[in-house]
Amino acid sequence: MNHDVEKLWELQQALTELGSLEHRLTIKPEEFSSVDDQYTAASDERGRLTQSIEDLSRERRRVDGALQDQQEVLKKYQGQLMLVKNQQQYAAAWKEIDGARRQAKELEEAELKVMADVEGAQQQIEDGSGGFDQLKEQYEQAHEAWQHSLGDLRTEIEKLRVKIEAIEQSVPESLKREFHKIFKQRQGIAVARVINESCGACRVHIRPAVSQQLKRGEMVFCEGCRRLLYGEKVAP
Ligand SMILES: [Zn+2]
Repeated sequence: MNHDVEKLWELQQALTELGSLEHRLTIKPEEFSSVDDQYTAASDERGRLTQSIEDLSRERRRVDGALQDQQEVLKKYQGQLMLVKNQQQYAAAWKEIDGARRQAKELEEAELKVMADVEGAQQQIEDGSGGFDQLKEQYEQAHEAWQHSLGDLRTEIEKLRVKIEAIEQSVPESLKREFHKIFKQRQGIAVARVINESCGACRVHIRPAVSQQLKRGEMVFCEGCRRLLYGEKVAP
């Protein structure tokens, strides 16, 4: 039996358990999950309203700019009105003034509508803010209760991490690196147990020569999946 491989086997067991415990940390309990969903939906809605206020405000600035331009145009033609020399020029200037006034009026109406929309969205945020604050408080309490309930799990995880570190320190650095490389590439199984003369991970048969190497305590890789082989437990 190769003792380094034995340690790596133990390391693998500990890492697998750590993975499943860490996963349990992320599973939301029902009590938290429902308030979490509500809070997330309410936050999204608020975010959407805030965004629409920003968009509308930008639109308002654009309309306002266009309105000022139009008022300049209007002033220009009103100035020309003073300088006309005949009825024809007078009529032409009036036509321009009319057009500019009409456009300015349209822009003013557009600006009023945008302002009303901004107010509407702001009102919606304000109306919802009492409920939102309450929901946020519920969310924070539920989150804290959930995190608090994970205390034992965290202690277990901490113990496992200490154990993992101790095992890692007891194996040669290069072997540790090799182990982690395979562990990552091969779905969390770097060391495969030999079961009935076959690789426990990929089921490829272990040739007698390889079996002999294992028995001599050599480090052997599976010919099927390139994982480290961990010899069959010999009955005492
Ligand atoms: Zn294999």
